Amino acid sequence: MFNALMVEKDDDGKTSASVQQIGLDRLPEGDVTVAVEYSTVNYKDGLCIGPGGGLVRNYPHVPGIDFAGTVEASDDPRYKAGDKVVLTGWRVGEAYWGGYSQKARVKADWLVPLPDGLDTRQAMAVGTAGFTAMLAVMALEDHGIKDGPVLVTGAAGGVGSVATAILANLGHEVAGVTGRPETADYLKSLGATQIVAREEINETVKRPLEAEIWGGCVDAVGGEMLARLLGQIKYGGSVAAVGLAGGAGLPATVIPFLLRGVNLLGVDSVMQPYDNRVRAWARIAKDLPMEKLEAMVQPAVLSDLPQLGRDILKGQVKGRVVVDVN
Ligand code: NDP
Repeated sequence: MFNALMVEKDDDGKTSASVQQIGLDRLPEGDVTVAVEYSTVNYKDGLCIGPGGGLVRNYPHVPGIDFAGTVEASDDPRYKAGDKVVLTGWRVGEAYWGGYSQKARVKADWLVPLPDGLDTRQAMAVGTAGFTAMLAVMALEDHGIKDGPVLVTGAAGGVGSVATAILANLGHEVAGVTGRPETADYLKSLGATQIVAREEINETVKRPLEAEIWGGCVDAVGGEMLARLLGQIKYGGSVAAVGLAGGAGLPATVIPFLLRGVNLLGVDSVMQPYDNRVRAWARIAKDLPMEKLEAMVQPAVLSDLPQLGRDILKGQVKGRVVVDVN
């Protein structure tokens, strides 16, 4: 028997989450059984712990969209007992049972070997948010980061914190947009040199082009903020669109694309091909300073998850939560 956070739905459609003891026979089919060591809390986890957000297929459900641990049993030649592995994406924790459990059974295709230089706790301090931040930085690099500060929106959140630390470590000037002024010292400790108040940039587009300020942008917010900042990107610069913490709409004009050659780059972590996953994890081990990662970590256990799920949906989680499932 082992512990898992189980989300159940009652006859009225109301969900509730609690830590329960379950047996191995309850785990879904899969090639590899993993003894999970750590998981994390992402925005999607907040939805899956709580109301579901249309992501969860069947109840009862074990959320947790990412985890790291040790292979316990494997029917796939790529993995053997004792191997350290990490999983993000593939709709694990949404359509399939996820990492808020001491054991998980998954497809071997979904796993990535733990990169050299990271332990399982550090891998989950990075988690889906940090992995996605790295993908966003790689996308910006592939299109060329222009001179000038790189803007990171939702900076004090998970994606934003890791993006800030990586970009600063790579030598870029970083401007962090936050709605929480009290996080300024934290963002500066990660390497941001400029703090931009959310209200300064979170306004409806009045002019499609403004002064060219930012050499690039990692955007975790979307909505009106993304629409507005497109008009502030330097000629030929790019925005990596990662998230929708501020809304899924995009009330923008196409003028920045047409007159300034601005690129809007979509970033998806869920269906990312294996080779690029390995490349991103190797870059994380190389380019994310571990002492800065540690400064982002807020430790938690399985029983903290119902509250943390509510907090992240309200934008109240700072940095990265690392859940020790044992
Ligand atoms: P967090 O909740 O940790 O961070 C989001 C941050 O956005 C908050 O901390 C806050 O930052 C800011 N924010 C929240 N609400 C608003 C608002 N109404 N207007 C403006 N800013 C707001 O989440 P994550 O960092 O884990 O994820 C960020 C986004 O990226 C989410 O939308 C998530 O779904 C998405 N995502 C996408 C992935 C992909 O594959 N494309 C993978 C992972 C995440 P502050 O307090 O500093 O203002």
